[in-house]
This record gives sequence, structure tokens and C-alpha cells, in this order.
Amino acid sequence: MNYLLDNHGRPISYLRLAVTDRCNLRCFYCMPEEGINYVPKPHLLTWEEMERVVRLLVQMGIDKVRITGGEPFVRRGILEFLERINTIDGLRQINITTNGVLTAPLVPDFERLGIKSVNLSLDTLDRQRFFDITRRDEFGRVWETFEALQAQNIKTKVNAVVMSGKNIEDIIPMAELTRTHNVSVRFIEEMPFNGDGAHEYQEFWNYRKILDELKKHYPDIYKLPDPAASTAYHYQIPGHKGTIGIIAAFSRTFCGTCNRLRITPQGQFKTCLYDDGVFNIKDLLRQGLSDEAIQSRVFEALQHRAKDGFEAEGKRKAGLVSESMSTIGG
Ligand code: SAM
Repeated sequence: MNYLLDNHGRPISYLRLAVTDRCNLRCFYCMPEEGINYVPKPHLLTWEEMERVVRLLVQMGIDKVRITGGEPFVRRGILEFLERINTIDGLRQINITTNGVLTAPLVPDFERLGIKSVNLSLDTLDRQRFFDITRRDEFGRVWETFEALQAQNIKTKVNAVVMSGKNIEDIIPMAELTRTHNVSVRFIEEMPFNGDGAHEYQEFWNYRKILDELKKHYPDIYKLPDPAASTAYHYQIPGHKGTIGIIAAFSRTFCGTCNRLRITPQGQFKTCLYDDGVFNIKDLLRQGLSDEAIQSRVFEALQHRAKDGFEAEGKRKAGLVSESMSTIGG
């Protein structure tokens, strides 16, 4: 087994691959409502290019890939791509992050496609608040996806970004989902990746404030051990089937064990969510570089990895973070 280490001695084993920048929702914290400049198709990595990149990285020691976007299921050809990467030797886990709008009918295929775990983004259980946040009336189809995942026994994490004035009243109802469902509900700090659809924060809900809110309602909530390289602090409420996670995505408390690489739909290779890309892997592929030359570029990039998200943000050439998360994948 290969081990890929960065310059801080952190093992790197996890790739987050954003397969499209297009999305069928318009979450206000992620994208502006109008005037989105989608990347022209020739500037996107093709499925064949992505398959080659995954193979090369798996040879180097990556054993887990998360497919994200934009919304992965809006790009044609995704199922065939999943089928192909599922045959790559050494790739232990393929996970998906989805908004659930188009996903329910595909869930019965997930086992065959090797998808063992799904992150379902859902910020509220209320249809009107869902519309206010996402600017689309799609709560019903997302909920069908949640039910389909439960019915097929697919490991499910529900990801909710916590935002004052938008979904604070959902924290407890969402935590209640863990009472009867074997699900992990994760509350995430909002980050400034909003495609310049900047908005005022009434009050920032950081991980401590989210935990305090949970403790007010569930004084017996208790801490679980966090798996290695986890970004979430894990908790459980006594008697509940599922678990709760709190992700300090803006406070960046977990960088010391970060094992992730990211590739954007345009091929930007990122060694931190907060950097602006350290090289473009699509350009290398299209210049005809050999497998070995591409792998050595990856290796080289890992020898200059920022120690944490603050350092990475400070080194950005593009200035402050403002790009849409749909161009990165989360
Ligand atoms: N479309 C898929 C989905 O909705 O799950 C995958 C891509 S989406 C960009 C990935 C995750 O990023 C979602 O859970 C979304 O809530 C989260 N996200 C987007 N913008 C964010 C922001 N500004 N702060 C925190 N999380 C954000």
C-alpha cells in the first residue's frame, strides 16, 4: 500500500472530485440567483480525463473519492463514469454529495455502482424555508431521496448549513431525525464561498453556538470519539439511533489531520478548500504529459501544502474567498 504524505507529515488518502459546476438549486449562501457564469463545456474535465486522474491518484495512495459538484446528477454520463471508476483496483470507497433533487430514482442502483455512503444536503425540513434558502420548490423530491436512502440502507449523512435568520428553528427538528433514523445529521458553519452573492450575517453561528443550542434541548447529549481525519465533532443523544456532527468549516479547527485533495470541474488541483488552486491538472493532461509526469506534479504540490486553511487563504492570488462553492464542491 502506498502512503502519500504532505510536507507536514499528514497522510493524503481522499479526493473530492467536483464533476460539474452546474446546479439545479440556487442556495443563497452558495450562488447568486441570476447572472451565473457557467464554465463552457470544453473547459470542463471530460469523464475520460477524470477517470484517468482518479486512476493516477489511486496508484499514489488515494483510496476514497467523493463525487460532488455543482450537482453531480445534472451532468450526463455520471452513471457510466461511476461504473467505470468502481472497477479501479485500490479504490476502497466512492461516496457522493448530492442535493437530492434528481437522486431518488437512482438510489436503487447505488449498491451496484459501489456507492456506500451519501451526503444529502438539506438545510431545513420546512418546505417554505427550503424554498427561501434554495430558491426552488424541490423539498418534496429531496425528501423522497432521504426516504429512498433509508429504504436501501445506504449510509446517509444529512448536511445542514446553519444560518441565522434562515434555519435556526430547524436545528432541533433536524436533530430529532436521529431519534428514529440511523442517520448522521451534521450542522455546518457557513463559509464565504457564495459566488459573490454576499449577504449580511445577522449573527454568525459557529460550532460552539450550535452545540450550545443542542445542549439547551438535550442536556444529556454526549461526545463520541471522532474518527481519524474527520472534519466533524461527533455527538449522540441518549436513546437516539443516529448521531450528530458539528463541522467547524469556517473556524477551521480540523486542518491538522486533513487528508483531502480537491479537483474542481475545470481541473484546478487544490490542496486546501481555502486555496485558489495550486496547478491545473486538465492543462497537464491536454499538454500530453505522461502518467509519471502528472504524478510527480501532484507529489510536488503536496510538498508545499499550507499548514491550515488560514495560511492557504492568506496565500491566495485571487484575493479573498468569494467563488461559489458550486465551482469547488465543498
Ligand atoms: N450539489 C451538491 C449538494 O448540494 O450536496 C454538491 C455540491 S454542494 C456545493 C456541497 C456542499 O457545500 C453542500 O452541502 C452545500 O450546503 C455546501 N455549501 C455550499 N456553499 C456553502 C457555504 N457558503 N458555506 C458552507 N457550506 C456550503
